Amino acid sequence: MSPLTRRGLLLGAAALGAAAPPSSDDVVGQPLRPWRRGGLDIHHIATGKGDSTLIIGPDGSSLMIDAGATATPPPASLDIRPGPERRPGEWIGRYARRHLAATGRKALGALLVTHLHPDHIGDVGPDTPLSPNGAYKLTGVTDVAAQLPIDLLVDRDFPDYAFPKPWSAPFATNYVAFVRDRIRAGGKVQRFRVGVADQLVLAGAEIRNLAANGEVWTGQGETTRRLFPPIESLPAGDVPDENALSTALRLRYGAFSYFAAGDLTSHSFDGALPWRDVETPAAQVAGQVDVAVAAHHGMFDATGPDVVRALKPRAWIIPSWHVAHPSSDVLERILSQRLYPGPREVFATGLSPANELAHKWLTDKMASRDGHLVVRVAPGGSSFRVVVTDNRDEGDRVVSQSAVWPA
Ligand SMILES: [Zn+2]
Repeated sequence: MSPLTRRGLLLGAAALGAAAPPSSDDVVGQPLRPWRRGGLDIHHIATGKGDSTLIIGPDGSSLMIDAGATATPPPASLDIRPGPERRPGEWIGRYARRHLAATGRKALGALLVTHLHPDHIGDVGPDTPLSPNGAYKLTGVTDVAAQLPIDLLVDRDFPDYAFPKPWSAPFATNYVAFVRDRIRAGGKVQRFRVGVADQLVLAGAEIRNLAANGEVWTGQGETTRRLFPPIESLPAGDVPDENALSTALRLRYGAFSYFAAGDLTSHSFDGALPWRDVETPAAQVAGQVDVAVAAHHGMFDATGPDVVRALKPRAWIIPSWHVAHPSSDVLERILSQRLYPGPREVFATGLSPANELAHKWLTDKMASRDGHLVVRVAPGGSSFRVVVTDNRDEGDRVVSQSAVWPA
């Protein structure tokens, strides 16, 4: 629907005193309209410092995936948005509170940590402030937890935090200290269970846990298979890195489907370690989706050709925050008519000027390069669109929006 037609419809509805039309009622320049019961909204929050996704389900239940806060300064990272007066996790927590208000709920239903890296959980440094009880520092996930209650926390490595080896990095030990403090206070924490569809719950929709720690759902019941050889049998250089252990999930609502896999990679080191490619089997068991998030921020080692062939989405979301996001080969692949035919749009949460310069012939084909990316799925899941909102302040003004696509 063209913006003109949409405005005409809205004016018409106002004149008649009727409710606005249900699925294409955002207006460029106006604030994003609040979530409505029956709709599914997937917000890819653009702070310039890492990944965070807020999903609000048809009944108002919610899931956040990651709350990153990298310490990498510009120009390697993007500038912090809306601005430097708050930390990324504070901006994310405030974003969630603002958009959950329409549901009448004050708590996040669940927060899923895809893997333990700073741009997904938050980094710490000498200046990072302590939590009120002094048990851990406030950054990323812990900043979000300070802003609003979280009913359930899920990650890939609870309760031991020792696979494939115990953590010593300060950002990880800070997160683990937060988890221990949360358990002491009676909070719920669970390890991500591959294969199930009842751990992360958005009533009315289905979230299937596809992969984590080298284990992938088979597509049959809740059964899984393990891709990695025994860790103790591997030379140190072959032990899977944290990205390869990321969680992957598929969200379905009616005919609509969505794939997100953290920083999972499809890289096999040019065939040397085929079992290191967890992303391809995860994408293949997910099957075709309407919207896919490019794993590992569109980096060279993810979103391989068979991932693109399996997912075939109408819309790609690139959660980019670093000058290396995305890479030329990934952009080339996700735009390739040889890997799958038909139209598709590519949206990124932010693109540095250097990245644009590096492959302008590809970035020129993108639908959007800056801002929060909100996938709005119509009640029942029959159609969806992507709305881009301004991340330079907290007004959530609509910058642009896609057509309405059938799911
Ligand atoms: Zn990352």
